Amino acid sequence: MWIDTHCHLDAGEFGGDREAVARAALASGVGRIVIPAVARQNFAAVRSLAHRVTGGVYALGIHPLFTRQAHDDDLAALRREIEASLDDPRFVGIGEIGLDYFVPDLDDARQRFFYDAQLKLAREFDLPVICHVRKSQDLVLAGLRRHAVKRGIAHAFNGSFQQAQAFIDQGMRLGFGGNVTFERARQIRRLAAELPLEALVIETDAPDIPPSWLYKQRNTPDQVPRIGAVVAELRGMGVDALAVGTMANAYVALPRLAFACA
Ligand code: ZN
Repeated sequence: MWIDTHCHLDAGEFGGDREAVARAALASGVGRIVIPAVARQNFAAVRSLAHRVTGGVYALGIHPLFTRQAHDDDLAALRREIEASLDDPRFVGIGEIGLDYFVPDLDDARQRFFYDAQLKLAREFDLPVICHVRKSQDLVLAGLRRHAVKRGIAHAFNGSFQQAQAFIDQGMRLGFGGNVTFERARQIRRLAAELPLEALVIETDAPDIPPSWLYKQRNTPDQVPRIGAVVAELRGMGVDALAVGTMANAYVALPRLAFACA
């Protein structure tokens, strides 16, 4: 079984054929789809979608790019939603949270405030985190250390081997997706090829980050096996072993995945 550890299945891009996209993923061998929230406005949507879709699970959090319109009391709402979800087997953690220094016009104090507050919640409820790490590796890691958050996924990871190792030492798994399929993405391909297998999970970030064969098209969660095959080839290992290994890693990163029945 494959796991898409990061898929925005609630996105507007799937408005016309969401159920068909989920069915295609299942048919291609993707047995779990992790659907992270991005803002208070989609907490209810990711939860109900995760319950509607075979293999769907969800995370709750405020994405750095959505801190622009987020209100302080969205954190109180997040806390209430977390408490209400603790008994829900389809709830797997806090996400998508993090920091972004690629997008130029973000209020830095604001995104740091939300990241920090959400790390506190992760610590308090002993939940793993799904982190958005874009040009922010060191500061995202510093936050994890500061709050002793030791489990989760650094999604769409891109960084140096030293940074990768620091995340691994903190207990995090690293997410690889469509980027790894581009020959020009040499650093990401080197990471996917050379990091220990125990560190890797596979994701799509659909509808974003399409693999090379869907260049500039909509990405979908049924691409996970083919992305996984690219990673397996880069590592010189069998596809089945990579599927089994990365599935096990996803369970380590998001332990509640093990309770989520199909
Ligand atoms: Zn995302």
